[in-house]
Amino acid sequence: MSRNAAIYARFSCSRQNEVSIEDQVLAGRGFAEANGLDVVGVYSDRAMSGTSDARPGLQRMMRDSCRHAFDYVVIWHTDRIHRNMLNAFSSLAVLFKNDVQVLSVTQPELNTGADEDEDKNLLLWSVYAWKDMRYSKDLSKNVKRGMQSRADKCLYLGHKVFGYDHDKDRRFVVNEDEAAVVAWCFGVYAAGRMTLREMADDLNRRGHRSARGNPLGYNFVEAMLRREAYIGRYWYKGRLVSEDGYPRIVGSDLFAAVQEHLGRKRRKAEKGEYLLLSKLFCSSCKKRMVGKSGYGRAGKAYYYYVCSGRHTSCITDSGLHKDVLEQAVADAVLKTLGDHRTAEHLIGRIMEMQETGPSKDRIDGIARELEAVERRQGLLLDAIDSFPPHLLAKKADELQGQRLGLESEMGRLKAAGLTLTRDDLREYMGTLSNRLSVRDVIENLVMGVTVARDGKLRITTSIPGADGSLVEAEGGLPGTATQQ
Ligand SMILES: [Zn+2]
Repeated sequence: MSRNAAIYARFSCSRQNEVSIEDQVLAGRGFAEANGLDVVGVYSDRAMSGTSDARPGLQRMMRDSCRHAFDYVVIWHTDRIHRNMLNAFSSLAVLFKNDVQVLSVTQPELNTGADEDEDKNLLLWSVYAWKDMRYSKDLSKNVKRGMQSRADKCLYLGHKVFGYDHDKDRRFVVNEDEAAVVAWCFGVYAAGRMTLREMADDLNRRGHRSARGNPLGYNFVEAMLRREAYIGRYWYKGRLVSEDGYPRIVGSDLFAAVQEHLGRKRRKAEKGEYLLLSKLFCSSCKKRMVGKSGYGRAGKAYYYYVCSGRHTSCITDSGLHKDVLEQAVADAVLKTLGDHRTAEHLIGRIMEMQETGPSKDRIDGIARELEAVERRQGLLLDAIDSFPPHLLAKKADELQGQRLGLESEMGRLKAAGLTLTRDDLREYMGTLSNRLSVRDVIENLVMGVTVARDGKLRITTSIPGADGSLVEAEGGLPGTATQQ
């Protein structure tokens, strides 16, 4: 087996102290070198918080993994694949299916046995990410309390809101130039004169740019048109704090008209989306099922899956109702995930991972070393004028490398100190069915489904089973398969 590796890095701009893409790549290269891997590609995504989750770098890497362009992917941390553990499933599942090993710079316990272990630990990885998430939640509790008290007063929380500036007391004030753009967008869209795309193009032509200096996309305009701040409403963590938290820019009637228009657009997009497309197969002829829509007597639209094979034994014509089928698949997978044996197997695997505890002395020692490195980095910055540039860059890289090494060791020791009990894990597994929407389940836990005329479903999940293979689930449609 060759030892070609790709590095994947992501920066979400949504957290303080987040490691930059450059540092993630630097650490990845160091890790690859230490493990005898050849880096043949670097993929990265710089996502802006609050916008859609398009990830061109990740998608390109997934495509290249299908061509077997590399055997390993090196990441800084599992949360770089996806912040949400459940969404990490689908990406990891594809990589594992393509025989790509994922190696984490900061979670060495996930890398052990990577070369020989057949069982690819998909869910284990995800639960680990969840565990880490809980850990960082504890750390940031104090920060959150501070944020909450600011939010209660409707103050600026560190996120620029287009249309507003803030004064020295963190109160929002109108930015007249941006407010004029907001008012223009609402007016034009309500009148139906331009699409979101045309509005973004128009703004770009007039020289407007995002807070980070990039050209604006239609999603920027759409997010703006949905933002309740412009009618004064201040939200924090899903709670409406105040109806008068911002100075108003748009009238209530105009705002309502725009929402009505946007709502129609969104509903249309959601209805036409077939979640099982490319995963659903006809059990009779083994061909792919495709989406189809039709209209009933009252003009109501119906959405179906039908077989693309069209043999007499296939599911054709009125087909299978999209919503009913998707719900039945999700129900069957959740039932399997809640199955005692599957759950206990997963819990057992996670418990095995937690054996080693941290050493308090070692953590203190690393903290001191880190301080020393940071001090030297500071001194280096002071000396920037008196150093020859090539030496400066070399020294800076060296210090940064030391610092990343120390930080990753520190992270590993701290994470090891957070032990979950069997009851914690049972609780977590027990809540899964409430947390997951049909979409979550199909996108993250379903690899493939075959369906028969009698409504019988056979589902291959991405859940690792006790024997090392992926867990299969069975289910069925309520009533007959070809209902109208
Ligand atoms: Zn068929």
